[in-house]
Amino acid sequence: MALPLPVKQQETREASCALDIIVAGAGIGGLGAAVSCLLAGHNVHVLEAAPEIREVGAGIQILPNGSRILKHWGMEERLSKHWQVSESFEINGYKGNKISSLSLAESASQYPGTWYRTFYRPHLQMPLLERVRELGGKVSTNAKVMNVSVNPDNAGATVITGTGEVLTCELFIGADGIFGDIPDMLLDSPTPASKTGDLAYRVLLSTADLLKDPELAPFVTKPQVNFWLGPEKHVVTYNIGKDHFNVVLLVPDDIPESSSANTVKGNVEEMCALFKDWDPRLGKLLALCKEVQKWRLCTRLNTRTWSHPSGAAVMIGDCVHATLPYMAVGAGLAIEDGAVLGECLARLPNNPRISKSSNSFLKAKRHALAVFEKCRIERVRIAIMRSHRQRYLNHLPDGPEQEQRDRDMQSTPTPEGEALVWRDPGTAPTLFGWNHILEVESNWDLSPTTAETSGLVLSGARLFWVYFVGAIGQYLRFLASVVNRGGRPLPLAALERQVGVEGRKDKKRL
Ligand SMILES: Cc1cc2nc3c(=O)[nH]c(=O)nc-3n(C[C@H](O)[C@H](O)[C@H](O)COP(=O)(O)OP(=O)(O)OC[C@H]3O[C@@H](n4cnc5c(N)ncnc54)[C@H](O)[C@@H]3O)c2cc1C
Repeated sequence: MALPLPVKQQETREASCALDIIVAGAGIGGLGAAVSCLLAGHNVHVLEAAPEIREVGAGIQILPNGSRILKHWGMEERLSKHWQVSESFEINGYKGNKISSLSLAESASQYPGTWYRTFYRPHLQMPLLERVRELGGKVSTNAKVMNVSVNPDNAGATVITGTGEVLTCELFIGADGIFGDIPDMLLDSPTPASKTGDLAYRVLLSTADLLKDPELAPFVTKPQVNFWLGPEKHVVTYNIGKDHFNVVLLVPDDIPESSSANTVKGNVEEMCALFKDWDPRLGKLLALCKEVQKWRLCTRLNTRTWSHPSGAAVMIGDCVHATLPYMAVGAGLAIEDGAVLGECLARLPNNPRISKSSNSFLKAKRHALAVFEKCRIERVRIAIMRSHRQRYLNHLPDGPEQEQRDRDMQSTPTPEGEALVWRDPGTAPTLFGWNHILEVESNWDLSPTTAETSGLVLSGARLFWVYFVGAIGQYLRFLASVVNRGGRPLPLAALERQVGVEGRKDKKRL
């Protein structure tokens, strides 16, 4: 069982060994990485493309794997002013029949020092931003990274922003989200975002409206995370504070194939019609909706590498691993990335006689990034596969398989692979009992052979190939993007090939 982590104190570093780090993107992934690198004693400048830092998209759940780290980063008190505590996950059939439930306090007690909470997204992002500034980080808005290139000496990178500013750093961290371009600038074979065939209607309702209806009021007065599972679709609702109630409807993607936009205005009547035979309470909730956006759900996973072979740049979060949101762990995984990266960078030499531009320091930096990848890529790949399995389970048509799914969720103890994934004995203990410090510790003595194959030990010939193949790849991708912007839907079998797994169930543990 993973023990609670103490609140991490900011480390002090010799100026000669404190990296100047640029983080591109002030989403949850980028801000989390900034906090973690600042705690490790490095200098951080976050560049955000938007004119102001603001999260869109309503609610977000943070589960035990994310909360253990946020607490470790000294965020708990700040977050507690905004979070919503839900009692349970309530799993219903689409007609409103109760299938199963999970007490969140009981579940969290199996992972000491963690919690399940729901947030209005800005209430998670703003405290992270405050923490970055409190730890001495700098944040610039209206600073879109237009280009990043590794310097000829491989010791750092040069960034050009949309306003023409040229900045240099000793480590560049790309965190520009699922449709971000940074992987194309840095990797020789980046994986583009692919359609999953599903989309999300994201609805934010006023709690005052729910309280006026005695049938809907309990959603506010007795906060729970509610799920309705039905053929091809499912629904998630939760309270995100005094004023807002969050509804997410996951349905087949009907945004025209030709559309390059991944977020479009939805039609409320069409949305309501999709759920007309469902639990009447859902109909009432949706009737409160005045306008809605449709978000095409895409996935993205780089299975080989998330870093540049020089060790001067690395990527985290959705730009290298976006998943279906069906386990509610995308942001949690991005938080894990930041935690592991900070822990690896905390282990770099810290000695006034060592310079960060010396060969030994650069080698240590490459090693740190190799360990980061070793700790992250396989874990994330398995989580993505489990999210896709979750889609299959959530959207079963009525019939024997659906009935078995429901019986599995009701049995005691529940079997491995059950649909209540946050309790699934094959997933939950490794998803939530994971400790990033132990993970780094156990992978730190990575053999040189592994580092070589993961692409992080440089030779002159390899460097030539990386740049040469990278240039050709960029050209081909440019041509492909002209022909088909956005990619085609990715069936499960293709996704499995992409992430290297055959068959519907991935037996490997997170
Ligand atoms: C419907 C839905 C529900 C979800 N629910 C949950 C949930 O409950 N729990 C959970 O853990 N996850 C959830 N997720 C997933 C989660 O939202 C993402 O995994 C997470 O936000 C990814 O964070 P990120 O920082 O990598 O990317 P983003 O949050 O996309 O941040 C990227 C940032 O980079 C900026 N940017 C882009 N390009 C540049 C550039 N060139 N230069 C500088 N800045 C740039 C953008 O403006 C943005 O601020 C959900 C996702 C969806 C779609």
